[in-house]
Amino acid sequence: MMQQRQELYVKKIKDGTVIDHITPGFALDVLRILGINGKSGEVVSTAINVESRHLHHKDIVKIQDRELKPGEVDKIALIAPNATINIIRNFEVASKKVVELPSTIRGIITCDNPSCVSNSREPVEPDFAVDGREPIRLRCHYCGHVMEREDILKQF
Ligand SMILES: [Zn+2]
Repeated sequence: MMQQRQELYVKKIKDGTVIDHITPGFALDVLRILGINGKSGEVVSTAINVESRHLHHKDIVKIQDRELKPGEVDKIALIAPNATINIIRNFEVASKKVVELPSTIRGIITCDNPSCVSNSREPVEPDFAVDGREPIRLRCHYCGHVMEREDILKQF
């Protein structure tokens, strides 16, 4: 039964990317992270708060004719650490991988403490330790400031 339901949600695009197992309620944030606002022409479908055996509920995003780049996948890991990225070519899954949230985050987001040294004119790369995974919680390596999921989403 589960397998059939899965196929219904994920198997219908010819080429592109299926992002599955997104934290429920965050599909639209994933689209925002990818710069998809509906006006750039991509054909996108989303399923929000659908049933999933492992997470109880999940979101799914399907993007036609676009394969995600590694940098984009890293950003998705920040808000959907259990997401799987399926690259689809000619209706087949060409590759499938679970996003990876590393133990440190460098260069993706900036510290929102204005007096942090990483926001000065010195060339200091933002650097955060991952204190929490789901929901994400980042601690600035330089000033100790903590960034929560909502703070991180504001930067996309
Ligand atoms: Zn800082």
